Amino acid sequence: MSDNNTESVDVVVVGAGVTGLYAVHKMRQLGYRVRGFERGADVGGVWYWNRYPGARCDVESADYSYSFDEELQLEWDWSEKYATQPEIMRYLSHVADRFDLRRSFTFNSSVVSAELDEETLRWTVRTDDGEGGGEVLSARFCVFGVGCLSSTHLPAIPGLESFAGATYHTGEWPHEGVDFTGLRVGVIGTGSSGIQSVPLIADQAAQLTVFQRSANYSIPAGNKPLDEAARRELKATYAERRRLARLSGGGSPFMTHPRRTLDVDEQERREAYEKRWELGGVLYSKTFPDQLTDLTANHAARAFWEEKVRARIDDPAVADLLVPTDHPIGTKRIVTDSDYYETYNREHVRLVSLRENAIERIDGHDVVLADGERVELDALVLATGFDAMTGSLDRIDIRGRGGQLLKDAWSAGPRTYLGLGTDGFPNLFNLAGVGSPSVLANVILCAEQHVDWLTDCLAHLDAHGYVAIEAAEQAVEDWVRECRERAAATLMMSADSWYLGANIPGKPRVFMPFVGGFGAYGEIIAAVAASGYKGFDLIAR
Ligand code: NAP
Repeated sequence: MSDNNTESVDVVVVGAGVTGLYAVHKMRQLGYRVRGFERGADVGGVWYWNRYPGARCDVESADYSYSFDEELQLEWDWSEKYATQPEIMRYLSHVADRFDLRRSFTFNSSVVSAELDEETLRWTVRTDDGEGGGEVLSARFCVFGVGCLSSTHLPAIPGLESFAGATYHTGEWPHEGVDFTGLRVGVIGTGSSGIQSVPLIADQAAQLTVFQRSANYSIPAGNKPLDEAARRELKATYAERRRLARLSGGGSPFMTHPRRTLDVDEQERREAYEKRWELGGVLYSKTFPDQLTDLTANHAARAFWEEKVRARIDDPAVADLLVPTDHPIGTKRIVTDSDYYETYNREHVRLVSLRENAIERIDGHDVVLADGERVELDALVLATGFDAMTGSLDRIDIRGRGGQLLKDAWSAGPRTYLGLGTDGFPNLFNLAGVGSPSVLANVILCAEQHVDWLTDCLAHLDAHGYVAIEAAEQAVEDWVRECRERAAATLMMSADSWYLGANIPGKPRVFMPFVGGFGAYGEIIAAVAASGYKGFDLIAR
C-alpha cells in the first residue's frame, strides 16, 4: 500500500468467472501480485447470475471444464452429459477452493474505472462502494474477464416497469428460486434462455404464454446421466478429447464431415445429420464444412432440422410459427433444449407470435396486444438477452492515451488486435471476448488459451526488460478487417443476431467474435508470440 492509500499491484483481474479464476491462478503461480474484483457475491460469472429454471450448458460437461490441471480433470465427476447451472457452480466453487482463489478476489465489488497514466504506463483502477469500500489501485496490467453475456437487456415495452405482477430477467434470477405453481406466467423471448426455461416453467404454471418475436432453431440436448463406466471412459480418453478440441472449430472434440454437403449422396448426408443430431444441440451447425458458408448446403441442413422438429409438434399451425424463416440455420446460436417443442403440445401452454400480434404495452397485470387482446399475468419472465460482448466493458470508464474512452474508441465497433489488445490502451487485455472465438467456441478452453498466451507474453516482457506492450494501430486495423472479411465470407451476416449487436437498438452492426475457428485462432496467436509479438509495440523505459 502506498502512502496515499493506493495499493500497488502487478495485475488487476476483473471478473471471477471462468476466465478471471484461471487468470488469477496462473498469474499468482508466476509470482505476480494480483487483485481480483467481482460484482457478484461469489465466483461463477455468467453461471452465478443465470439461475433460471432449466439453465444448462450447451457444451458437454467433460469438455466444458478446465484442462490446465490433470488432477482436477480426473478428480471431478460430472453427473450428466450436459451439466446444469447448479452443477457448474459447484464445479467452479470446487476449483476456487482447490486453488484457494477466493482470497485474491474482493466480491460484491465492481471496478468502475481504469485510467492510464501515460508517464508510468500504469493503470489507476477504482472500485465502487461495494465490499471493498471504494478502493484505488495502481496496476501495471489490467485484465478483463467480464464475460460476453453479463449485461442484461430489457425490452423497451411501454409500461413494463409498472407491471403489477412479479418480473424476472433470466440473467439476474433470484438466488432463492421462483415458485410459479398455480400462476399465470408470461415468457418474453425465445433464445437459449427462453427455450431452456419454458418447459420447466410450464411444469409449474397454471397457464403459460410464450411471446415469440423471432423463432429460433433448437435441437434436443440428448442429455443423459453419466454413470461410473461412462465417466471412466471419458477420463481414459481425456488427453485425446482435449487434443481434438484444440484443433477444432468450436473447442469441442468434434470434427466436421470431411466432405462438402452436396458432394455426398442423400443417404450419407442424412446419416451425418443424424449423427450430429444424436450428439445434441449446437454441434449440428457444423455437420458439414460448408453449412455456414453455402446457402444450398445450409438449406439441406435446415430441411432435415425442420422434418425432425415438425414431428415433435402436434398442431401444424403452431409448428409454422416455431419454424424460423428469417435466417439460415446456425447463423444465430442453435439452442440446446430439453422438451421445448413438446411443451407446446400441452393444454395450458400458448404461443403468441409478436410478428403477427405485437405487444403494445403493459397495463397493470395485462400484456396488451396490438389486436386489443389483454393477456392477464401474475408473473413475467424476460428472457430478452444481453448487450453482448461489449456491454460489460462499456459500463466501466476505461481511459487510455489522451484520456480516450475505450467505449468511444469502439464506437463504430470493437477495435482489437487478436481480440487481446487495443491501440492506445497499453497493458490492458480483454480476454475471451470480441475479436476472438469466445462465444463461438467452448469458452473455458478460450479462457485458458488467452490466459496462457498472456502469461507467456508477460514473462517475455520481463525477460527482455519491457515495461509495456501495446497493439499497433495498423495491426488493429488489419485484424478488424480480417475479422470482418472472414465473417462476410460466411452466412453469419445474414441473421439479426447478438453476435452482430443487432438485438440492441443503436449498436453498430459489426460481427464481434472471430469466426475463423478456435484451432485456427490458436495457431494465429501462437505464431504472433513466436515472432516476438509482431503487431504489438514492446515498450522499454
Ligand atoms: P437471446 O438469444 O438474445 O434471446 C433473446 C430473446 O428475446 C429473443 O428471442 C429476442 O427476440 C427476444 N427479445 C428481445 N427483445 C425483445 C422485445 N423487445 N420484444 C420481444 N422479444 C424480444 O438471449 P438469451 O436467450 O439469453 O441467450 C443469449 C446467449 O446466451 C445464447 O445465444 C447463448 O450463447 C447463451 N446462452 C447459452 C445457454 C446454454 O445453452 N448454455 C443458455 C442461455 C444462454 P429476437 O430474436 O426477435 O430479437
